[in-house]
Amino acid sequence: MENLVKLDPDCLFCKIIEGKIPSKKVYEDEDVLAFYDINPSAPIHFLIIPKTHISKLADATMENQQILGKMMLLIPKIALDAGARPGQSGGFKVIVNNGADGGQEVYHLHIHVLAGPRPWKQELLG
Ligand code: AMP
Ligand code: ZN
Repeated sequence: MENLVKLDPDCLFCKIIEGKIPSKKVYEDEDVLAFYDINPSAPIHFLIIPKTHISKLADATMENQQILGKMMLLIPKIALDAGARPGQSGGFKVIVNNGADGGQEVYHLHIHVLAGPRPWKQELLG
């Protein structure tokens, strides 16, 4: 993919991309990083982020079409690698919080991926 990496020095997740803040990585390539959520709401809970600073989904533009598509298409494989159960009895949930009413706390676009046996915490719905 064309390299569009632009990072914000004040952004927590940009600092994770740069390795300035540690994270437990699940997957990484030149375009995206996936790492475990520090406060998991399910037995398996990781975040996948673009390696370019996009504050929130509503700020994404058609320039970001490829990276957003790539993130979505990578999720099933990363989820399985992280231990999500395969097949119809297994699966996973994806969530994107957008803005204050969406419950977004970190303003670097991220997709939550949750999996594993239920029950799960309800925090992400609040
Ligand atoms: P959101 O509310 O969608 O913005 O979610 C932000 C998520 O980032 C929360 O689930 C936090 O637990 C998670 N988080 C915050 N800081 C870190 C960190 N340093 N490493 C991993 N996850 C983090
Ligand atoms: Zn950022």
